[in-house]
Amino acid sequence: MTSFTVINPTTATAVKEIELNDLIQTDQIINKAQKAFETWRHVSPGDRAKLLRKFATVVDTHIEELAQLEVLNSGHTIGNARWEAGNVRDVLNYYSAAPERLFGRQIPVPNGIDITFKEPLGVIGIIVPWNFPMPIAGWGFGPALAAGNTVVLKPAELTPMTAIRLGELAKEAGIPEGVFNVIPGKGSIVGERFVTNPLVRKIVFTGSTSVGKQIMRGCADQVKRVTLELGGKSANIIFADSDIELAAAGAPGAVFDNAGQDCCARSRILIQRSAYDKFMEKFEVAVKKFRVEDPALDTAEMGPLVSAGQLERVKEFVPDGTPIAFQGSKPAGPGFWFAPTVLAPKDTTDRAYREEIFGPVVSVIAFEDEADAIRIANDSEYGLSGSIWSRDIGKAIRVSRAVEAGNLSVNSNSSVRYWTPFGGYKQSGLGRELGPDALDAFTETKNVFFDTQK
Ligand code: NAD
Repeated sequence: MTSFTVINPTTATAVKEIELNDLIQTDQIINKAQKAFETWRHVSPGDRAKLLRKFATVVDTHIEELAQLEVLNSGHTIGNARWEAGNVRDVLNYYSAAPERLFGRQIPVPNGIDITFKEPLGVIGIIVPWNFPMPIAGWGFGPALAAGNTVVLKPAELTPMTAIRLGELAKEAGIPEGVFNVIPGKGSIVGERFVTNPLVRKIVFTGSTSVGKQIMRGCADQVKRVTLELGGKSANIIFADSDIELAAAGAPGAVFDNAGQDCCARSRILIQRSAYDKFMEKFEVAVKKFRVEDPALDTAEMGPLVSAGQLERVKEFVPDGTPIAFQGSKPAGPGFWFAPTVLAPKDTTDRAYREEIFGPVVSVIAFEDEADAIRIANDSEYGLSGSIWSRDIGKAIRVSRAVEAGNLSVNSNSSVRYWTPFGGYKQSGLGRELGPDALDAFTETKNVFFDTQK
């Protein structure tokens, strides 16, 4: 068995050795999950609901511990990390209402009765990235378990600690052995085995678009179900008739939260030309005030990047000599820090403007009118998220219908609520997570006709 050294991104020092599973161990755990499926699917709806509520309660009593673990492992600000642990609890509570409500339909037919059933799929393989280790795991395992499936979950190599702890908490809550299994390991070994092992009936993948495409190709061999949440390059569209002060005050958080390592980061700011100067003046003040500091402090608004590798990747987008409009601050000393950075490219051909950076870098570009804003916003292979700022409600509605993205907010930058759907257009993904319909992605619809004439 090989191991991986978890590094604290704030201090660049080693935290813990994590053992990585190999192919044989992965197959053994998948077999165990398959066996557990045969009993878990038959646990009565009320009992399954109770177990999920118990799991939520146990998570709730460990919020602070989980949050501190995420600060240590991922460099998330403590405020964010508490929200993230709370989100796991909330998702479990929300989907704990599902087992008793997995309704089918009774459809009128001649000479009989026709009923649909929502059947669980079997073992679900969840592959998680490093940017939001807790919520992204929960968005998969909450509805998957509620629908009667069992789960094998692979955390990202860099950030396995909270997932491992959630696995222990599930056992403490009484979730039966084999139902929820956390398998730390490499993507190329454990992740790929989820794709190739026929006992895994569905893959829930969140991560880069390139790995997502590879997984989708791999799933084709077995017509394996797959949901993908991939990258983004979301637009923050600010019209001159909006509350420019409010839009400027919110824009740093909309892109620099989690050090920009957020698939929903509004990393392109589209500002109407007539308000450009006013916006930039206010935005500069807000960026310079944005608190980049030890993420364990309650006042921190941004911490370090997750790893030395990610810091190098971000630096490649802003090589020495790049014209920078303005920058925020970063602490001196060890850790993987990159200061919030604002670029103002002349056109939309810049690599930093077009590609997902996954770091605290934003590009600001001017547009002329409504049609221009929509054209520029949609000129991207991605379509995950975005914001629209305007006091003209008709225009806000027209633009929000025209922008090709799965999660938009008007006069707000908030994208995620566990009870509303989340997912991407175009190369940002396939399928939707969260909300009332997520259970459809974890069940097969079975139709049965009963002949009443015989
Ligand atoms: P990544 O694609 O490298 O890795 C994601 C996960 O896939 C990790 O657990 C990794 O071990 C695993 N993996 C890697 N290669 C694999 C393979 N061949 N087969 C199976 N599994 C494999 O991405 P990352 O670097 O961890 O995360 C950053 C990326 O994720 C960004 O591009 C970001 O946009 C995207 N992301 C998207 C969303 C979303 O909801 N749309 C959310 C978070 C992150």
